[in-house]
Amino acid sequence: MPLHSALAYIGYAQVSWREGVLYSPIFDDVYYQLGQGKAESTHVFLQPNRLCSRLQENPSSTFTVSELGFGTGLNFLLCFEEWLAIEGDKSSLNYVAYEGFPLSPTDLRLALDAWPELSSLKEALLDQYPLPFKGSHRLVFAEGRATLTLIFGDIGEMLPAYNFLSDAWFLDGFAPKRNQSMWDENVIRHLSKHSKRLATLSTYSSAGSVVRGLKEYGFSVQKISGYGLKREMVSAVWSGTAPGATEANHSPKLEALSKGSNSLPNWAQVERIQALPAKTPASDIHVSKCIVIGSGLAGTTTALALAEAGLDCLILEENPSPMSEASGQDQLVLYGKYPKKLNREAKLTLSGHIFSQSYFSRLQKGRPEIFWNPCGVLQVAKDQSDAKRHAELLNEYQFPQAFSELLEVDQAESISGLNLNTPGLWFPKSGWLAPKRFAEFVLGHKRLEMETNCHVTSIKQNHSGIWELDTSLGLRLCEHLVIATANQTSQLVDTNLMPTKPLRGQITRVSPKSLSTPKSVVCGEGYLCPEVNDEIHFGATYDLTSSHSEVCEEDNVKNIDNILKWLPTWSNKETLTASLVGGSAGLRCTTPDYTPLVGRLPNTEEMLERFKGLRYDAKSCRETYGAYKANAYINIGHGSKGMITCPVSAQHIASLISGGPSPLDRELEMMLSPARFIIRGLSKNKL
Ligand code: SAM
Repeated sequence: MPLHSALAYIGYAQVSWREGVLYSPIFDDVYYQLGQGKAESTHVFLQPNRLCSRLQENPSSTFTVSELGFGTGLNFLLCFEEWLAIEGDKSSLNYVAYEGFPLSPTDLRLALDAWPELSSLKEALLDQYPLPFKGSHRLVFAEGRATLTLIFGDIGEMLPAYNFLSDAWFLDGFAPKRNQSMWDENVIRHLSKHSKRLATLSTYSSAGSVVRGLKEYGFSVQKISGYGLKREMVSAVWSGTAPGATEANHSPKLEALSKGSNSLPNWAQVERIQALPAKTPASDIHVSKCIVIGSGLAGTTTALALAEAGLDCLILEENPSPMSEASGQDQLVLYGKYPKKLNREAKLTLSGHIFSQSYFSRLQKGRPEIFWNPCGVLQVAKDQSDAKRHAELLNEYQFPQAFSELLEVDQAESISGLNLNTPGLWFPKSGWLAPKRFAEFVLGHKRLEMETNCHVTSIKQNHSGIWELDTSLGLRLCEHLVIATANQTSQLVDTNLMPTKPLRGQITRVSPKSLSTPKSVVCGEGYLCPEVNDEIHFGATYDLTSSHSEVCEEDNVKNIDNILKWLPTWSNKETLTASLVGGSAGLRCTTPDYTPLVGRLPNTEEMLERFKGLRYDAKSCRETYGAYKANAYINIGHGSKGMITCPVSAQHIASLISGGPSPLDRELEMMLSPARFIIRGLSKNKL
């Protein structure tokens, strides 16, 4: 089964109530005992994992708690409540929860209503509670210091799919006899793979098979007294050896584990032992925790993700202000172009689309300065075959109405405010971003600073692992470096095997006086935006042949001709030409496969050496880990899809740096990996 089939709409769980307790007919079990949920959770999960004291041990780090069986979210809320109650310094909290049968928001609310004292936390959870698409959903609380990564889908498929290490585990499936898939050997094997050294685990079950499994995979198990009528429960510590570490492995199962048994090869990963922090020298020179070079959409979203993860970050920008290049249009549209079939490109688009929608609406919420405009995006069907394609798309993707729906002609017209004469596909939660205002908001974060007019001329890593940047403003030092310099990247690193190309785009600006103004974004073979600054903007050109960013007349003519082809009812050539105010142009940065380059910066020479076997056998080297420059990352090549791919990519980079869970699964991580052209070139024996 290809991994990308792990993306689909899975719907909500069918549940009922039995004597006041939420009950699952599929598993013939209750979510918790009547009147006991809260005390039971505390006894079984919070206390044995010593969360309160461990969260205070290392305040500058992130602490990851992972739960198998999110259910009503009660365990999460209690854990979050405990974290909130700790005064003073504490670790950031990453809570990762797996759930194969997500409850509907209504059932979740009803279940949690039993604890009125959790009401404000419940509302915060429900506010961001995602649609039940398979895959990872990120919910952010306390300005990013606490996150919930909800991973929907069957545990056997999802546990191996995401890369992260956990400090504590809550095993809370239904009873093992009724819910074997949550407790089988494969699951326990992956708990071990995802455990930090001395990670703790607890569960209400003391079933023999669970205890044996945990022991075989490196957990020291202790039986302690259970809650209420339960005599025993299990508390455990992972004392096994991390896969890839050099210490001796004792258990044969652990040995097999260390050889890497996932179906995906390891070239996009680093051995755990490699990922050591840089040593900050004891000197007066200031060393930033992180530096991001570039302040387009990729750079600003990355800097914000780092700041939200609790890492101080300096942005260096060669222009006088952020968003000065291709991201600097007045309006950036969040618009997903979905392939006919649900393949891995579709998975990236959908993951990014869902992520960006909730990301921008979360950040906008409660702020007076408007940067995110969720006016909805309407994809119009210009003819019968387009309309058929939209219907097929909905059928293939099974989008729920809350994400996308087909609109009849009159609905499409009333929603867009235009005379369209066509039906359409409607994305109600999408919209457009005002990037410069967004950058202003981002830069208000207390952990962020920016230096403008700062041109970075070269980068190198010194013997202590610190990155040294020569800039027009002097030397700048950092522990972690992120390069988000789009088309200028080749000035800093060798991009021969990380190829990019400029992609010119121009939008056209017209006066709205003689035109109908759209209420939503309208898309076809281009897009038309709602009014901004007394203008209407549409476009954009897509030009791989010229590499200048001047506005040109002929591109305005192209945009006018084009929009009249896909939206002929809106206006005519004379009116549009008479309304012309001008254009705005920029050079986007794209890649040969039109997929961004996001992840660790490859050590090209070492990669070529380690993976040379691929030249003769493309299936070899599956166990070999990639070679990457320590603590250096790249985030470029988003082309015209930055609104879809930048926020999720930024979060991925922050996860690599902070050690938290990434929103990208292993398959997407490989798809975006900056080392993919090296691996492809070797596999085709072209390097
Ligand atoms: N921890 C939850 C809470 O705080 O409300 C209660 C969890 S309930 C006892 C068990 C959960 O495991 C259910 O939500 C169920 O849907 C989920 N589950 C069962 N089998 C699963 C599977 N194969 N993959 C993922 N989740 C599963």
